[in-house]
Amino acid sequence: MKQRLLLLLFAAAIISSCSKKLKTIPGRYAATNKVYSQHADSLSQTLLAENPAMLTDSLGSPIPSEWVGTVNFNLRKPNYVIIHYTAQDSVGQTLRTFTLVKPQVSAHYVIGKDGKVIHMLNDYMRAWHAGISKWGTISDMNSCSIGIELDNKGNEPFSTAQMNSLLILLAKLKKDYNIPTANFIGHGDIAPGRKPDPGIRFPWELLANKGFGYYSDIIIVPAPANFDSATALRLIGYDTRNLPAAIGAFKRHFVQREDSTTLTQFDLDVLFNVYKKY
Ligand SMILES: [Zn+2]
Repeated sequence: MKQRLLLLLFAAAIISSCSKKLKTIPGRYAATNKVYSQHADSLSQTLLAENPAMLTDSLGSPIPSEWVGTVNFNLRKPNYVIIHYTAQDSVGQTLRTFTLVKPQVSAHYVIGKDGKVIHMLNDYMRAWHAGISKWGTISDMNSCSIGIELDNKGNEPFSTAQMNSLLILLAKLKKDYNIPTANFIGHGDIAPGRKPDPGIRFPWELLANKGFGYYSDIIIVPAPANFDSATALRLIGYDTRNLPAAIGAFKRHFVQREDSTTLTQFDLDVLFNVYKKY
C-alpha cells in the first residue's frame, strides 16, 4: 500500500515537472509571450485602481465624491463573435502579424486549415480585430466581441477540419458567455464597404443550422410590395449610411449567389425572410 502511494507521488511529481517544463520551453514566441505577460500585468493595475470618478461642475468646482467598493461584481463578458478570414499566406504569417507591434492588429483565436486552434488573447481582453465598424447602435465592436481569424486567402473554400474546429470553439464561446444566436456575424457585416471577410464562400448556413447566427429559410415567402429594404437592413444591424455597401455585405452573408450591391427580387425575398428573425 505504502509502495503504491510512493509510486503515485513519484508519477505526480514527474507530471508536474513536465507541465512546468512545457510552460518554460523557450519557443519561437517566448519573447512575445513575455511581452503579453507584462502587458496583462500592467492592465491588472487598472482593474485594481480604487479611485472615485473626478467630476467638476460647469464652473470647474469639484463635485464631492468618494470610493466605496461594492462586493458584488465580476468581469464583463463578450456578447458577440466576429468571424474573419486572414487573407494571408499561412498561419505562421498571421501569427507574425499579430505578434508585431507595428500592424496594431490582433484576434483572440486563429484557426488553421488543419483545424489547429491558436488562442492568442484571453477572452476577457479587448483584441484589435474589428477596426472602424458599427452594428446596430454599437460603434465599438472590439469592446464587446471575440475575434476569430480563419486561415484563408478569401478566394478558396474553407476546409472541413477548420470548420469542425470553428463549430466546437463557437459552441464553447456561446455556452461560456451566453452569446445570443443573432450575435455570430462577420467582419464584412460590421464594416460594409471596408471589409469583405469572411466572404461569399463562408458556410453561414452550416453555422446557422448549429445555432450560430441566422440564415434564410429554405422556403421563402415573397416580400410584400411595400417592403422597406433599407429599414430592414438597418433593423438587422447593418450600417446603412452607405446603402449599396450594406446591400453588398448582406448579400455576401445571406444570399451568397453573386457579389453585387443591388437587390434583385430574390434578394428582397431573402431579406424579408431574414429580417423577420431579428
Ligand atoms: Zn477581418
